[in-house]
Amino acid sequence: MNKKEFRKELLRGKGSCYYAVSKAPEKYRDMILWACRNNFSYDTQSEGTRAWFVYTLVGCDDDTTPFINAAAEALRNCSSYGNWKADYLSELLLYFASDGSEAARDAVREKYDELYKMLLMRERFPDGVFNERDFFSRLCECMADDKYSFLEIANDIGRLYRNNSLYDGYYFDWLYVTMGKKYIRTLKKLAEKSEDIAWYVKKSEEYEAEEQRRRAEWKSSGKFKRRTPEEIKEEFLNEYDLDTLDDTVKSVPVKLRGEHDWHGVHMDVLKMESLGLKAPVASLYHIYDSTYCSCCREHALRQLGKRRKLSNEILQECLYDCNEDIRSYAKKLIGRRENIRGDINEK
Ligand SMILES: [Zn+2]
Repeated sequence: MNKKEFRKELLRGKGSCYYAVSKAPEKYRDMILWACRNNFSYDTQSEGTRAWFVYTLVGCDDDTTPFINAAAEALRNCSSYGNWKADYLSELLLYFASDGSEAARDAVREKYDELYKMLLMRERFPDGVFNERDFFSRLCECMADDKYSFLEIANDIGRLYRNNSLYDGYYFDWLYVTMGKKYIRTLKKLAEKSEDIAWYVKKSEEYEAEEQRRRAEWKSSGKFKRRTPEEIKEEFLNEYDLDTLDDTVKSVPVKLRGEHDWHGVHMDVLKMESLGLKAPVASLYHIYDSTYCSCCREHALRQLGKRRKLSNEILQECLYDCNEDIRSYAKKLIGRRENIRGDINEK
């Protein structure tokens, strides 16, 4: 793969990069260093970050130090938090930390301490979105990867609640409902002895009770009206001619710069299945190959899988895709094929 092709595949988050880098790590080193400094998910909120993907590419090189240093430096210099960059860098560094890199763990810890201090001192919320607080909340979720870290973070959040009345359970609820339930008994026991933990439990439970009441109210209000599949299908057929659909899809250039019309067209093709229409197989391949959005790639892949149009080569590539769901889907299909092959060989 030449460097230009590699760059495109890298930005798409495709597993082909892994095979290229494992053969010649030095050839692509500069681009992987770039990837260690920049968040390049197409839509981080839907796809998640590409931390595992980049971590795996870095692992093909003998010396991971320059990559870890690049990511640590980028996180230290990162001062804006609404763009998912800090989330990505922290996740990436935590992968290296789990392999024993002190430098990686220290860089994330420094960021945590810096933001925690700022949140403690804060006197009022900003006018718009409070990006630092939102990032800190996600950072807590990433760092709480074992019981000890979780309890330490729960203690810090409790102290934040106790010392600053600006915050309520809403801001750190996700950590409580995902990790909290698992360790809730330990938390409650600790709350008897620790004032900070007691604050964490109290605020989280107050928010959960309020949330349940709101959800029940919303359900019974009947305010939410979805469009019916028939309405969506009619809209789709008004917009596209099924006979020339594949040509239409391929005529829209897939580029990162400029307008992203291609993403809307791809999503329209991918929703055909739910409307009882069959998307052209050629369009599904085209989406799989060209999209920069790994969620769309996953949908195209699953539809191709259902229609038995996936080669072993595509599945092997998917094992190293940036999207975790694509990786597990490919793993499952490869396992199934190997079982079938095993059964045939036995006969
Ligand atoms: Zn998409």
